[in-house]
Amino acid sequence: MIHFAPDSKNTQALTKQCQTPHKHQSHIIILKQLFNIVTPGANHTITPKERHHLQRRHVSRAALKVMAALHEDGFQGYLVGGGVRDSLLNGHPKDFDVATDATPEQVRRLFRNSRIIGRRFKIVHVRFGREIIEVTTFRANHEASADTKRSKQSEEGMLLRDNVFGDIRSDAIRRDFTVNALYYNSEDDSIHDFTGGMKDLQKRKLRMIGNPKIRYQEDPVRMLRAVRFAAKLDFEIDTKTAAPIRKMAPLLRNIPAARLFDEILKLFMSGYAQPTFAKLREYQLLEHLIPAAEEAIVNERPFALPLFEQGMINTDKRIHNDQRVTPAFIIATLLWPAVVAEQARLEQGGEAAARAHNLAAHNVIGQQIQHTAIPKRFTQFAREIWELQARLPMRSGKRAERLVENPRFRAAYDFLLMREEVGEDHKGLGKWWTIYQTKDEAGRSVMVEKLQHGSQKRRPNRRRKRPKNTTENS
Ligand code: ATP
Ligand code: MG
Repeated sequence: MIHFAPDSKNTQALTKQCQTPHKHQSHIIILKQLFNIVTPGANHTITPKERHHLQRRHVSRAALKVMAALHEDGFQGYLVGGGVRDSLLNGHPKDFDVATDATPEQVRRLFRNSRIIGRRFKIVHVRFGREIIEVTTFRANHEASADTKRSKQSEEGMLLRDNVFGDIRSDAIRRDFTVNALYYNSEDDSIHDFTGGMKDLQKRKLRMIGNPKIRYQEDPVRMLRAVRFAAKLDFEIDTKTAAPIRKMAPLLRNIPAARLFDEILKLFMSGYAQPTFAKLREYQLLEHLIPAAEEAIVNERPFALPLFEQGMINTDKRIHNDQRVTPAFIIATLLWPAVVAEQARLEQGGEAAARAHNLAAHNVIGQQIQHTAIPKRFTQFAREIWELQARLPMRSGKRAERLVENPRFRAAYDFLLMREEVGEDHKGLGKWWTIYQTKDEAGRSVMVEKLQHGSQKRRPNRRRKRPKNTTENS
């Protein structure tokens, strides 16, 4: 999903930064800014095909088709964003975005399988089989528009609506980082750069376009994007880009919970969760995203930090091995120490274990979803993983057999292994389950029998007699 921001201050800062005009020229520049005119050529570098690494054959055919169709109809059409950045870095882009001077309605008319989505930021999705190409119209400076239907900012300077259209240059300087504002022209395979992105790419620098403070104010999610890209690309965050983050991190609290959940998915499920997590902590962002996780680390809850790190490592490994990952597992991991602590607190207050657990899970999730919306199916799944932790040790009779059949068994078992991996001692429980799964029916029965035998030996009279006239708390 793409988000831009109104940014005339930024435009000015950038123009100053790049042009350092003579005094007599500055009036002209201001006039041009007022009328949203851009000087063709200034700060615009074009890198021809022979001098960069983006190879046409790595570009999605669907994106090439979209651009060709736009060109044929007399529109401009460029590949932009992560698709260009990652291809230039010899990476594997996960999606391809196209920017054009055609309006969303014009794009919509051009492609049969397309639809306009978004209100705050209108884009067109063009579908080719399972692939979707996002086509966005060049955005422009907001202050040139008094039209609040198209452009709107909150009192804190946050972007609420962004549908003022412009040209390629205005579009470039309203993107977030210089390396995200490179435009690939499929007609001659050249790269167009208006913000120094090619140099930054070479230096492996993540640099915010314009004044970082203003840009974070307009859209605080850019702080999360900064750490995400720095971690994913192994780029250094430019000093000025990094400087305001810690102080401005609390602005994340103004972001709608649903959008933050989308960001969480990108932060932890793109294959770079481990370095991303470290950076989220380094820049004091985690405490505004998943406060319970940061608190667990700060309060030194048992195994909290190692568990989180292991969770991130395991997630990355699974993604790199093309294995399935579910956000539920990550949520279960990051909130587990908080649930354990809350459960202990409730038990101390006199609640029975099972009820204390349920309440604790309910409370911790309840607090988290105030920050980041989490679809019910994931919170439910996370709760099942937690609940099964208490059931995994109980294997007698038909219990083990029934547990393996549980659709959440695998996740719960992985969770147990992870807890053991970071040093929790469960007396070989994980190993027991590992072996159990390899056995046939007879072998499984033997394992369970041995277990009962062993436990009977140790604790011959385990069953306590229930005192008369008491009913069990359910
Ligand atoms: P990836 O898709 O690999 O996560 P990306 O750079 O393609 O990275 P998208 O979220 O797909 O990221 O956005 C596409 C492009 O839109 C970005 O490269 C950037 O130019 C612009 N963009 C996205 N979000 C913002 C934002 N919050 N502020 C300014 N520009 C943005
Ligand atoms: Mg993208």
